[in-house]
Amino acid sequence: AKNSGRNTIRFYDPKMQEAIKYKVAIETSLKRALKKNELELYYQPKVDDAQTIIALEALVRWNHPERGFIPPSEFIPLAEENGLIIPLGAWVIKTACLQLARWSLEEKTSSLTIAVNLSIKQLQSDNFVATVERILKSTKCPKGKLIFEITETLFMGDVDAIVSKMRNIKEMGVHFSIDDFGTGYSSLSAIKKIPLDELKIDQSFTQDIKSTDDEAVIIHTIIGMAKNLGLRVVAEGVETNAQFEFLKNAGCHVFQGYLFSKPLPFEALKKIL
Ligand code: C2E
Ligand code: CA
Ligand code: CA
Ligand code: CA
Repeated sequence: AKNSGRNTIRFYDPKMQEAIKYKVAIETSLKRALKKNELELYYQPKVDDAQTIIALEALVRWNHPERGFIPPSEFIPLAEENGLIIPLGAWVIKTACLQLARWSLEEKTSSLTIAVNLSIKQLQSDNFVATVERILKSTKCPKGKLIFEITETLFMGDVDAIVSKMRNIKEMGVHFSIDDFGTGYSSLSAIKKIPLDELKIDQSFTQDIKSTDDEAVIIHTIIGMAKNLGLRVVAEGVETNAQFEFLKNAGCHVFQGYLFSKPLPFEALKKIL
């Protein structure tokens, strides 16, 4: 603590100062990154039970000129805090839609869908429905090929307002998937209230399959419930054949994980399609 002035004492915590400095630096450079195209979308395949690639998930990558690769787990939460998630998220949607428009022209890629991760902040923003409409039009994005992945954090906000926006967006031919399912606090009855097409079981369940019977019970329960609601079930984080076999037998429709492929840049992905 340093005495500065008569009655005020300021506390300096070097660690906190550094964290704040880092935050500010990242915020400044993220603005630049958006302008200068330092962001890139990688695509991770989703496969069916015959391991055929049927869909892709877009995952954003940031190659910072000095700091190198910064993972989304580090800059997405910051972008949510400072509002940059709005332009960043719009860039991700637009880039995925442009890709879909291009792919619709080639036989090998014309049936693929692309899933884009949404932050709840985007769904809460006033202009989001209009933004999506504008992007779909300007990119000539083919109908029915774009999927938005949202998480259970949506239940922490004004659910009715969000559901109404989701309905508007669904009318434009966009589908919705609930991501990381099982990690939040949403109940099965709450899930019924939101207009979903797909449910993704969180990767923590996949990775614990071998360790306890509890995980198996949870997975069977989630799959049974999802099927009753008419949802397509995706298992995430599949890394081993044993996990793949278990999930297939449990009735999952779609599988995603390092066993099949890591997220890849567009050029590398093209080679495995
Ligand atoms: P997520 O949506 O749950 O994405 C899955 C994450 O798990 C990805 O990490 C992916 O690379 C990783 N993963 C895939 N298969 C496996 C596997 O078999 N094993 C393991 N251990 N991991 C696997 P990534 O790309 O680092 O993304 C982390 C999170 O950042 C995403 O989690 C998502 O919440 C967020 N994110 C990524 N891109 C975007 C974006 O464009 N917008 C928003 N709002 N969030 C994004
Ligand atoms: Ca996701
Ligand atoms: Ca996930
Ligand atoms: Ca996650």
